[in-house]
Amino acid sequence: MSEKFDVIVIGSGPGGYVAAIRAAQLGLKTACVEKWMDTDGKQVLGGTCLNIGCIPSKALLDTSHRYHDVTHSMDVHGIETGKVKFDVSKMMARKDGIVKQLTGGIAGLFQANKVKPIQGVAKLLAGKKVEVTAADGSQTVYEADNVILASGSVPVNIPPAPLVDGVVVDSTGALEFDSVPKRLGVIGAGVIGLELGSVWSRLGSEVVVLEAMDTFLPMVDKAIAKEANKILGKQGLDIRLNARVTGTEVKGKKVTVNFVDAEGDKTEEFDKLIVCVGRKPVTDNLIAADSGVNLDERGFIFVNEHCETEAPGVYAIGDIVRGPMLAHKASEEGVMAAERIAGQKPQVNYDLVPSVIYTHPEIAWVGKNEEQLKSEGIEFNPGVFPFAAVGRALASGEGEGMVKLLADAKTDRIIGCTIIGPNAADLVQQVLIAMEFGSTSEDLALTMFGHPTFSEAVHEAALDVQGHAIHKVSRKKRK
Ligand code: FAD
Ligand code: AMP
Repeated sequence: MSEKFDVIVIGSGPGGYVAAIRAAQLGLKTACVEKWMDTDGKQVLGGTCLNIGCIPSKALLDTSHRYHDVTHSMDVHGIETGKVKFDVSKMMARKDGIVKQLTGGIAGLFQANKVKPIQGVAKLLAGKKVEVTAADGSQTVYEADNVILASGSVPVNIPPAPLVDGVVVDSTGALEFDSVPKRLGVIGAGVIGLELGSVWSRLGSEVVVLEAMDTFLPMVDKAIAKEANKILGKQGLDIRLNARVTGTEVKGKKVTVNFVDAEGDKTEEFDKLIVCVGRKPVTDNLIAADSGVNLDERGFIFVNEHCETEAPGVYAIGDIVRGPMLAHKASEEGVMAAERIAGQKPQVNYDLVPSVIYTHPEIAWVGKNEEQLKSEGIEFNPGVFPFAAVGRALASGEGEGMVKLLADAKTDRIIGCTIIGPNAADLVQQVLIAMEFGSTSEDLALTMFGHPTFSEAVHEAALDVQGHAIHKVSRKKRK
């Protein structure tokens, strides 16, 4: 029998690598198995998030935003740019460099914390044994006192739009185009579809987003989703709701997409098509039938609120378990699993998971929105403040959007916040911290905010809950 570990983690995404580092910090002998290899046969750590998800998408969003700014927003500043050239390959090289730096950083952290990286495809056997099949086909079985499953997720494919190399692609392919497509189709107006659609639209593609549902961003506060639809439409994203894709045909370098909308059958032709219709957990061949680990009715690994599976000593975290598919949720679960293995009793606060869509402006939210509170019969007081009345936002040409803060009508505790506007992701985090500490809207209203900052919109929204926002005319009764 080969080496024995206190903890073996399967998968090195933001769930797995964080769990492995935390377990090692707590003095546990830890290994992390990762199957991913680069073209030189070198192991790649970091999972979806670092390699083909959060980080590369944000790198391309940053480049495309700068390009769009230079080509559209300079004149008003009195800056003359002349002809602006754009080199896709340089943008991709920058993105690849960032990914390399971060994934290399994880290898360094593994080394420093004495986490043993093992290359290969892992399978959980009965009795907390882990079988690893290396690239050369050789198999080794490791023993562990505890196993953390963190094999993540992959894009969903749909029968009407099978992937065709370089023409019909998933999110991974959309991070690797070698030129800006003239006409780009996107199936799915979810978070990933809107982010990738924005990247290529800012670089000059004519982008059409086909979404089967008739509601835009149904998980977002209705008023803010409406605002987002308006702003993104103005930016040039042609978002068609109630448009279900029924078939695609690739002819040469173009793709024809058939879809049905309220008016009947329609067809569009694109140079490239991105399929962004969701992600599914990676569980194929991951667990032996007698491992004691079971799936839930949706195909995720079944776990309790502490990420324990039904096999004692086996945990599962991140995209393979219930809850939102988000990197920070995976990492928090990884820390919880490692600390529980070490005998501690941490919890994840699933009521306070922030969500962000990195369009421009960003859309971010935490807690409950107005529609959820109404359907649950919870009485609330809203506070709304537009960035158009925030000095810093106007000075930075970022006057679009608003902050919406909701407080419990009886206790005044903040129970939800949705923001569309500059730095919304970071602003929502401020509110989340307040919520974590059980803050009321009055607490936030009584807090001093620096001037001029974007966060003054959060302050004013809290004042608006109280009925006395300063920089807007309030129709509410003053306290
Ligand atoms: P993953 O990151 O998927 O990692 C799983 C790892 O396990 C992989 O490296 C895989 O190779 C390995 N593995 C699988 N099976 C085995 C096996 N049998 N043996 C060995 N290794 C195995 N989330 C955010 O929070 N913010 C964002 O801005 C964001 N943007 C995104 C943008 C895009 C384009 C995409 C696709 C995703 C984005 N996400 C974002 C989602 C985020 O990437 C995932 O929620 C996160 O990566 C999940 O982490 P994980 O550790 O559960 O799994
Ligand atoms: P998300 O799960 O947030 O990534 O969003 C995926 C989106 O794709 C959802 O809003 C789905 O309604 C949408 N979708 C799924 N199948 C189709 C289809 N055949 N045509 C158009 N949109 C689709």
